[in-house]
Amino acid sequence: MQGIGFGDLGLEQAGAVARAALICISMLGWVATAAHGDRGRDAPAEAVAAGGVPHPWTPLVVGERSVSCWNRVYEFADGLFPARVESGGADLLAGPMRLAVKVDPRPQPTWSGTDQAWSAASFTVERSAPDVVEFTTRSTSEALTAACRWRFEFDGFSLCELTVNPKAPSEIVRRIDLVLPMQPRFARLYHHNPIKPIAQWDLENDPFNSGGVPAEGLFLPFVNTLWLGDEQRGLQWFAESDEGLAPLGHFVSLDRERRLTLNLTGTRRITGTRPFRFVFGLMAGPVKPMLPTDAVRWAWQIIGDESLKPDCPDPRPRLEASAAAGINSSFAVNITELVQRGRRDREFGRAWKRLNRAAKAAGITLQACISWSTMDPEHRGTPEGITRDWLMQPELGMDLEEGLLYYPCVGGDFREWFLRSAEEAFRDFDLRGVYLDGPGIAVLCSNRAHGCGYEDGRGIHQTLPILAARDLMKRLYLISRAGPEPGLIVAHMSGFVQLPSLSFADATLGTEHIAGWYPDQHPRYTLAGFRAEVRGHQHGIPSLWLYKNKDRPTLYAALSLLHDLVPTTFDGTTAAFTEAYRSFGASDARWMGYWEPMWPVGTSDPRLKAGSYLKPGVGALTTVANLTQEEVRAELTFDRALLNLKAPRVLEVVDSRETHIEGSALRLGPGGWVLVRVGEGPE
Ligand SMILES: [Zn+2]
Repeated sequence: MQGIGFGDLGLEQAGAVARAALICISMLGWVATAAHGDRGRDAPAEAVAAGGVPHPWTPLVVGERSVSCWNRVYEFADGLFPARVESGGADLLAGPMRLAVKVDPRPQPTWSGTDQAWSAASFTVERSAPDVVEFTTRSTSEALTAACRWRFEFDGFSLCELTVNPKAPSEIVRRIDLVLPMQPRFARLYHHNPIKPIAQWDLENDPFNSGGVPAEGLFLPFVNTLWLGDEQRGLQWFAESDEGLAPLGHFVSLDRERRLTLNLTGTRRITGTRPFRFVFGLMAGPVKPMLPTDAVRWAWQIIGDESLKPDCPDPRPRLEASAAAGINSSFAVNITELVQRGRRDREFGRAWKRLNRAAKAAGITLQACISWSTMDPEHRGTPEGITRDWLMQPELGMDLEEGLLYYPCVGGDFREWFLRSAEEAFRDFDLRGVYLDGPGIAVLCSNRAHGCGYEDGRGIHQTLPILAARDLMKRLYLISRAGPEPGLIVAHMSGFVQLPSLSFADATLGTEHIAGWYPDQHPRYTLAGFRAEVRGHQHGIPSLWLYKNKDRPTLYAALSLLHDLVPTTFDGTTAAFTEAYRSFGASDARWMGYWEPMWPVGTSDPRLKAGSYLKPGVGALTTVANLTQEEVRAELTFDRALLNLKAPRVLEVVDSRETHIEGSALRLGPGGWVLVRVGEGPE
């Protein structure tokens, strides 16, 4: 089997990025392959964190039978798999994760086969560095031996290669399951990677891929990623490929008790030369410390080509006006254009640097953009030597006036080309950030030319190049952090929560795929689905709602404010929110959402929703919003105990056009919201 191009991710030496590209690890067998062996010659060499672990992560700590990283502990006890997965001190599991195997009994057949009881597993560390730990767990049962080769990385990412062998020359297994008993309170929300290729995903009719876990549970065919969690934390399971699996019925069964069973196979014969093998990963979140809510205030392109012409007007007044509206980051050019045109046209290079300096002076981080659909063999920004080997398969193209745009795959040579371009842009053109319109995540692909997909008697199957996307993002992160000030990576992910790669994003953009749908105003799009997919806090990755529905700015702002997201309407709301957020000191307050059982500030009408930044003894900064399509009148209510105030009252108000507030009496039109600061009133 061809190795999946997956750079060695160690960072312990200077030169790690270049070295990364030299060593490719096959997911099956962890064997260094020669398949892409000479790639590293052209790879970026200087953008390296010198030793240790990049900010904001901390070195891995290996315990007797555990691995810890920032905010998380994977405790193995005596099993092949973790017995506890702690995030922020809370165990996401209700019991040990385990391998459940039934084998054909001998000599007498039984109805269901014989359950295998596993011996206490050994735990052997093979490599321990601040950024990477590798170890093997091994266990035996009456009929089988099992081994898991584990690789953990500094951000909490893990990969496991599971092998099950018979003790006898051959054995019939009736089924093999991975069982993860989830803590019910951490299995309230779900998200899974769409099971269809993006171009075949029928958003209007296919089941939605995020939501609240129904009481009866969740049952799905094979999915490449499954995240379960709540609004604070969660656990993502992932696998690039279902090759070799043969589930009986549902692959995913999350039952009423929130026991998650992943059925890897039904009946099959395993032998010493054909054991059962499968590679998957686990990643608990949040993956890093959350930034303050107002840290990234990103807007779609605010300035572009017109400001890069030789005699263009001074861009500063426009940039300063954008900054006054609250914008602190945006993109201006395509990275292809920046690098290729900048190389041959000195005037263009100078104009870019002038624009970049003006943006910096205005307080705006200016990015270059790279899109899935940037690659165009005929027209703009053609990378040197692009071939069909670069592209996703089935091929996706957009037929635009300027030519046919193709979609490259992160699994192909696109990745190395892009990283070289990014390194050059950061180094030679003082680039300060990248907006990834797609390549921050993996998309299903079956292009065998670069290691994606597989073909068997049942057809051509796509795989999800999660590790290639992670490799791209990790190396881009290092490149963006090699300069004197940290860069900014904003990744468009629209419905694809993939923590292994998005771990390296400074912010994500969701929701373009559901532009025009508002949660609870669409039959299949719920607020729980919005929280699972868009909120970001449970992943530790700031999330921005891509504002495309300019017809409903107040409803958009209401939804952002209710979910502790910065509203990026830039119509006055953003600046007003930022001022209120900072003057209250909300970045170190406790957020209490409408989904919690108690609220420091609520209303007398349950149709209204409220979310608060709470500082007991000081007060709250609260958003109350009307997500219904009718006007609602209500009184604000105060929980004196939660607020720890004697006589709470409204001290300051920011509101939308659809709002009227007098004292604590509210009148909110459809989509209306009000942001109130509540504090101690007169005795
Ligand atoms: Zn591919």
